[in-house]
Amino acid sequence: MFHYDAPAGLLKDRIILVTGAGEGIGRAAAWQYAAHGATVVLLGRTLEKLESLYDEIENAGYPQPAIVPMNLDSATEHDYIELSNQLFDEFGRLDGVLHNAGLLGMRTPLETYDPITWEQVMRVNVHAPFLMTQSLLPLLQRSEDASIIFTSSGVGRKGRAYWGAYAVSKFATEGMMQVLADELENTPNIRVNAINPGATRTQMRAYAYPAEPPESNPTPAEIMPLYLYLMGADSRQINGQSLDAQGDESA
Ligand code: NDP
Repeated sequence: MFHYDAPAGLLKDRIILVTGAGEGIGRAAAWQYAAHGATVVLLGRTLEKLESLYDEIENAGYPQPAIVPMNLDSATEHDYIELSNQLFDEFGRLDGVLHNAGLLGMRTPLETYDPITWEQVMRVNVHAPFLMTQSLLPLLQRSEDASIIFTSSGVGRKGRAYWGAYAVSKFATEGMMQVLADELENTPNIRVNAINPGATRTQMRAYAYPAEPPESNPTPAEIMPLYLYLMGADSRQINGQSLDAQGDESA
């Protein structure tokens, strides 16, 4: 596991958007960011899940979050511009984005992969983070220290049979992170990195590996040190890296 002891006020006064915040890893990250002082913008497609997390964060006495219900499968360019305008009106800037929402799609050979599912996975996993990042960059430019985090996967670094669009989308995610990080190399207030969570106990993992005992993998809460490290000021010098949440590095 990546080792990092986050100071209590690590993300104090930061505004951080988390996609796929209602469930799994995104929910744990939004909670941890709020617990470390951030105002979190909870984005996801299932309103009830976002509302229940909102209540938990409020009841814990952490900064009041914001909720953005959005389906990344159907959102248009216009929706992303609207999102950016809303955040500008409410906060005036953005200090972090965790692109976490993801779709697994089918586990099947490319020969028989359903083209509609292929497009859906590419839209949610690649196209949506591209459009969102594009529309949010002006807000991130207004931050003193902004961090953009993409979510990768082991199959986004080495292709594996039957992982289809999901694997290809994660290769694209690694590529998008590298291109953007290089473009922003001389923009010292924004850094761009990716996290590979590694096998984690969530619905997606259970769906991909139905025969595996869920307890054999760490919970989302256990893999949070890297999510905190990359979002806070201690990682200011890190740009263009793809790091493993369950790797044995430390910071
Ligand atoms: P889950 O399936 O548990 O959660 C995914 C989240 O993404 C949910 O909140 C879901 O919303 C949201 N989401 C899915 N589709 C859309 C959409 N169209 N619009 C908006 N939100 C959407 O997944 P994990 O927590 O396991 O995965 C999080 C990230 O980590 C993903 O990018 C995944 O690829 C990656 N990852 C996970 C691994 C693991 O072992 N768990 C391993 C490697 C990478 P809703 O709750 O409404 O369904």
